[in-house]
Amino acid sequence: MSDLEVPVLIVGGSLVGMSTALLLGHHGIRALAVEHHRGTAIHPRAALINQRTMEIFRSVGIERMVREKSGEQFDQDGAIMAVETLAGKELAWYIANLNEGVRDVSPCTRVFITQSVLEPLLQKRAAELGAELRFATDMISFEQDADGVTAVIRDRETGNTRTVRARYMVAADGSRSSIRERLGIRMLGRGVFSNSVTIYFRAPVAPLMRGRNLSVIMVVNPTLRGFFRIEKPYESGFLAVHTIGDPAHPETNVSTGLTDERCLEYVHAALGTEPGTDEVPVKIENVMHWQSTADIAERFREGRVFLAGDAAHVMPPYGGFGGNTGIHDADNIAWKLALVLKGIAGPGLLSTYESERRPASAFTVEQAYSRYVTRAASYLGTSGMQPLEDDLNIELGYCYGPGRAHENPRESKGRPGTRAPHVWLERDGERISTLDLFGHNFVLLAGPEGRAWLDSANAGVEMLRIGADGIADPENAFPGAYGITPSGAVLVRPDGFVAWRGESAQDLTAAFASLLCRETN
Ligand SMILES: Cc1cc2nc3c(=O)[nH]c(=O)nc-3n(C[C@H](O)[C@H](O)[C@H](O)COP(=O)(O)OP(=O)(O)OC[C@H]3O[C@@H](n4cnc5c(N)ncnc54)[C@H](O)[C@@H]3O)c2cc1C
Repeated sequence: MSDLEVPVLIVGGSLVGMSTALLLGHHGIRALAVEHHRGTAIHPRAALINQRTMEIFRSVGIERMVREKSGEQFDQDGAIMAVETLAGKELAWYIANLNEGVRDVSPCTRVFITQSVLEPLLQKRAAELGAELRFATDMISFEQDADGVTAVIRDRETGNTRTVRARYMVAADGSRSSIRERLGIRMLGRGVFSNSVTIYFRAPVAPLMRGRNLSVIMVVNPTLRGFFRIEKPYESGFLAVHTIGDPAHPETNVSTGLTDERCLEYVHAALGTEPGTDEVPVKIENVMHWQSTADIAERFREGRVFLAGDAAHVMPPYGGFGGNTGIHDADNIAWKLALVLKGIAGPGLLSTYESERRPASAFTVEQAYSRYVTRAASYLGTSGMQPLEDDLNIELGYCYGPGRAHENPRESKGRPGTRAPHVWLERDGERISTLDLFGHNFVLLAGPEGRAWLDSANAGVEMLRIGADGIADPENAFPGAYGITPSGAVLVRPDGFVAWRGESAQDLTAAFASLLCRETN
């Protein structure tokens, strides 16, 4: 007998576990998430939240709140660039303004907000949507059988243990996932290429910013290679250091034997200021040790257990993809688990989690690695390295199904497997995005001349005509953006990806049944 019965047990309540709980709640599934730590993240870590993640946040009603909070923490729209030192020479500008040239493709913008500020917002919304979050709780063992997973959890304060019975379990337990290990799932890839540190410091660096709006500042000089992120009002931030020493023969283990004194030297070497003087007083607050890797789990699933986030893929923090990719995993698995648990879809739907997310994640891992090599570690060499893709093609252009794992989102035009494009529409006198029509059900969007589709009743599909029936398409942009004629239609999944596109209602019923892995008579 188990003490607790839940539909889904999530192990790990950090960025990805919390997002999974939130998204399951959004789809009507009250999950239990257990987290070893006593609360949400205390270290800033991830901060670049990309457009796709903001679109997901928009669909669960927290986009505006996240944007407001991000503005309190960082000047938005900053640059990603490289310097020899913050006070000294500028070396490269990779992105001059974080949202330049991408505002047209989404109703959302990229923002900077640290995990320590974001996670409480996710936690609040997840709880509102019915998720149960237990901090200071470890999942200490589990077994699975044909019908579910039985796990033992332990309260760290009292030492009391309880047994949880869940239909499914999501392992969002981070890069050292004990669940992944226990399942015997190997990580494949490039292995460890640096023992890095993140040095959190306080220092009045506003004068060194010289009025520049900088989101990520890479530092490349003879002492170290790494990057700064500095928060408003420019009195605190962190310096991540990956390598030190001669660029031709770098020392990649920065972590072992690191002293506070050495940390001070690194921060000064990156600021371009003199240690031991009053020029810019630096106070070290904390140091975090971590390894740079670019690896992916050989499988994302074992029976009723699904790996998500860093448990499934680990990448260097170049491009700001790690946490975002984990949230995209959560977005992919949540609606599938919900439909299977509600009996609307067959269990076969769950197999598509790995077949969709693994290639998309593998591509992203390699792109993060390519950025790491070109921006911070040229000594690793470019042999076997993927050419750099545009950031947009990674964050909004990742796609599912046979063929490419990514596409330019301006060119995908409603092709099945790609993210449904953003088009501004009007409803009840208000400007809305096509994306605002998705998020809960499958939605069939028909062109303005597609009246016949509305008669083709399909249980579980919401039918909408764009450019008619109260949804105006002022620029008549919808059919072209979605690659259909004015009488065609496109079927969009609850996660905003295009499932199917066609010109005849007759094909829809069979296509829909096959998408849900349901038996048809
Ligand atoms: C310096 C730095 C900067 C970064 N910047 C960015 C960025 O700008 N954008 C971005 O997208 N990503 C960034 N990342 C990557 C991002 O931080 C990670 O990808 C993300 O935090 C992964 O989240 P997660 O929830 O999968 O794993 P984790 O954050 O590792 O969380 C796993 C959680 O599981 C818990 N846990 C583990 N085992 C158990 C158990 N048995 N029982 C209960 N709880 C358990 C742990 O306590 C932990 O809290 C950065 C990383 C670093 C190091």
